[in-house]
Amino acid sequence: METVISAGIFVLGLLFGSFLNVCIYRIPRGLSVVHPGSACPKCGKAIQFYDNIPVLSWLILRGKCRNCSTPITPRYLIVELLTGCVFLVCYWHFGLSLATLKCAIFGFLLLGLIFTDAETRLLPDKMTLSGLVIGLIFSWFVPVNDLLSALLPGVLQVPVSLHFSYRLYSFLDATLAAVIGASFLYGAGAIYLRARGVQGMGFGDVKLMAMIGSFVGLRLTILTIFAASLAGSAFGLSTVLAVWVKRTARRKRAFHETSAVARKRAWPSAMIALRRYQMPFGVFLGTMGLGARD
Ligand SMILES: [Zn+2]
Repeated sequence: METVISAGIFVLGLLFGSFLNVCIYRIPRGLSVVHPGSACPKCGKAIQFYDNIPVLSWLILRGKCRNCSTPITPRYLIVELLTGCVFLVCYWHFGLSLATLKCAIFGFLLLGLIFTDAETRLLPDKMTLSGLVIGLIFSWFVPVNDLLSALLPGVLQVPVSLHFSYRLYSFLDATLAAVIGASFLYGAGAIYLRARGVQGMGFGDVKLMAMIGSFVGLRLTILTIFAASLAGSAFGLSTVLAVWVKRTARRKRAFHETSAVARKRAWPSAMIALRRYQMPFGVFLGTMGLGARD
C-alpha cells in the first residue's frame, strides 16, 4: 500500500513538473500558462498528448521534436524528475498531511524559480509574490515553529487559547522572516550598487527571499542567506580564477611569455570577468531554500 501511494505521489510530481516546464518557458515571456496547448517553439506544430507524457516522451523522442527534429532541452526531463523527487521526499518526511502539501508547493515554486533564473535571469512576480502569499497562508496551518514561536508566548502571555496563539505566532514568525529576509537582501544590494557601480542583485531576489522567509521562518531564513552568500562568493571567486588560469595558459602558448609575465598580463582579463560577473543569486538562494525546507 505504502509503495502504491509513493508511486502515485511520484507520478503526481512528474505531472506537476511537466506543468512547471510550461511555466518556466511561458511566464518570463508574458504568455498564458493554460492557453494555448503546447507547441514546438521552432516549427509551431502542436504537441500531441502522447508526445507530452512526462519523462517517457522526451526519452522516446530522444529529446527532439517529432516534426522538425529541433532539439528539446534536457531541462524538461530534469525538472520533471526533480519535481517528482521533491514530492516523494516531502511525502516520506511528513506522510499524508498538510505539511507535505506545503513542502511540495514550496519545492515546486523554488524549482520553477531556480530554472527560470538560470535561463532568463528573471524571477517573475507571478511566482515570487504568489509564493509569498501562499507561504503566509500556510504558516497559519502548518507552524513554521521557530524562534519567535518558541520565545514570545512565554514573554507576552497573550490571553488567547493556545491553539490560536500557536497559529498566530507561526504567522508572525513567517511575516517577520519575510520582512527581515527581504530587507537584508535589499540592503546588501544597495551596498553592492554603491561599492561597485553595477547592480549585483535585482528586486526579484528581494521578493524571492521574502517568499522563502514566509515558508521557512526566521531561523532558517538567516541560515539560507548565509549559505547562499557563501556559495555565491565561492562560485564568483572560482569563475575569476578559472578565467585567470585559462588566459595565462593562452598567453604562454600564443606569445611565449614566461609564467610570471603571462600571469601578470592575464590579470586584467580576470578583473573584467569579476566586474562582469553577475551572481546568479536566485539560483543559490533557491537551492539553499530547498535545503532549508523544514
Ligand atoms: Zn518542431
